[in-house]
Amino acid sequence: MNVQFKGIAVPGLKGKGKEDSLQLKSFGESPNKFRNFEAHFTILNEHVVEKDWLYNLKDYEGDSLESAPKEWISYVESGPDYLDRISYDSQTSGASLHKILASEKEYLRLTRTTQGKFREKLLKEFPSCKVCGLKIKELLVASHIKPWKDCDDEERVDASNGFLLCPSHNALFDSGLITVEDTGDILISELLDKKEYPLLNVREGLGVDVKHKHSKYLKWHRDTVFRDKA
Ligand SMILES: [Zn+2]
Repeated sequence: MNVQFKGIAVPGLKGKGKEDSLQLKSFGESPNKFRNFEAHFTILNEHVVEKDWLYNLKDYEGDSLESAPKEWISYVESGPDYLDRISYDSQTSGASLHKILASEKEYLRLTRTTQGKFREKLLKEFPSCKVCGLKIKELLVASHIKPWKDCDDEERVDASNGFLLCPSHNALFDSGLITVEDTGDILISELLDKKEYPLLNVREGLGVDVKHKHSKYLKWHRDTVFRDKA
């Protein structure tokens, strides 16, 4: 694992062994169960870190970090005065860690129930892929038009903000390689090679049935998610 640290924190707890500082744990419940390392860090000196450095952080694929920890976001927005200080004391850091875990569980639970409700609503409306009509229920994905991460609570369960899509059309829509006009016409990104159209089950002149209620979300998708040029 190639991780670099610059001033803000180092992995590990003072006076504790590696096994106390880095533990492999299971999170969530089946089928959303996953394992991940739970790491303890010691804050060295947060003032060393420049805001620009946090702004310019990239993930391992070189993309901008879209989901920075809330502590970083509040640091970037408000500066160190508003930073919730993490205690150096190992007992308190243990306590704060449990708080984080509780909210992570809560987060997973909420995500599952809202996503479930959202999918139910869409299935009731039109139980097949909006684009190609595939009807195999297990394969249909409840796709948000305005991405989940950008939505407020209401938008996350608003059926007007979603289409049921098959895996292929969901992947294209989600990654911004196709989008939908208010008229229902499907726009295909120039980034997609025409030779691949048949493999992805798209062609020029495709359209879907959209209603007025979809338009504000579709505008968001066209402006923010759709990628037309490299
Ligand atoms: Zn489809």
